[in-house]
Amino acid sequence: MTNRTNRIKYLQGYRATHKKEMVAWRIRNKERLKRYKKGYYEKNKSALTLQQKGRRDNLKKLVFDHYGRRCNCPKCPTPDIDPLFLTIDHINNDGYKERGHKNRRGLSTTSIYLKIIRTGFPDTYQVLCWNCNCGKRLNNGICPHLTL
Ligand SMILES: [Zn+2]
Ligand SMILES: [Zn+2]
Repeated sequence: MTNRTNRIKYLQGYRATHKKEMVAWRIRNKERLKRYKKGYYEKNKSALTLQQKGRRDNLKKLVFDHYGRRCNCPKCPTPDIDPLFLTIDHINNDGYKERGHKNRRGLSTTSIYLKIIRTGFPDTYQVLCWNCNCGKRLNNGICPHLTL
């Protein structure tokens, strides 16, 4: 036998034992690994949600800093309503298309904020209060305050 074949044999043998060792170690530590992974997830879950929420709040702040914190409907009876009631409205009424079908809640608003920021705060958006926003949508794109 040459040195080379010896060496290959040795390596193959080593790998085989090593593999066995690895598998044995995994089996021995299966429960521990499971617990470790779970613990890691549990511990980080709340931190992650907080992080995501912080990110969303920041995006929202940027968008409302630009468009203002007042309902844009000229006849809105409550233009200075609590900012929590304010929404971003797509002036051309195709906002629903952007929202798409997946994730109608939280994330969709976040992606609209992201889009607005990425596209440089276009004039096609405005701030409406919840009432005017819904009214507009139900009244063929014109807030009922303006047609009543
Ligand atoms: Zn309004
Ligand atoms: Zn209105």
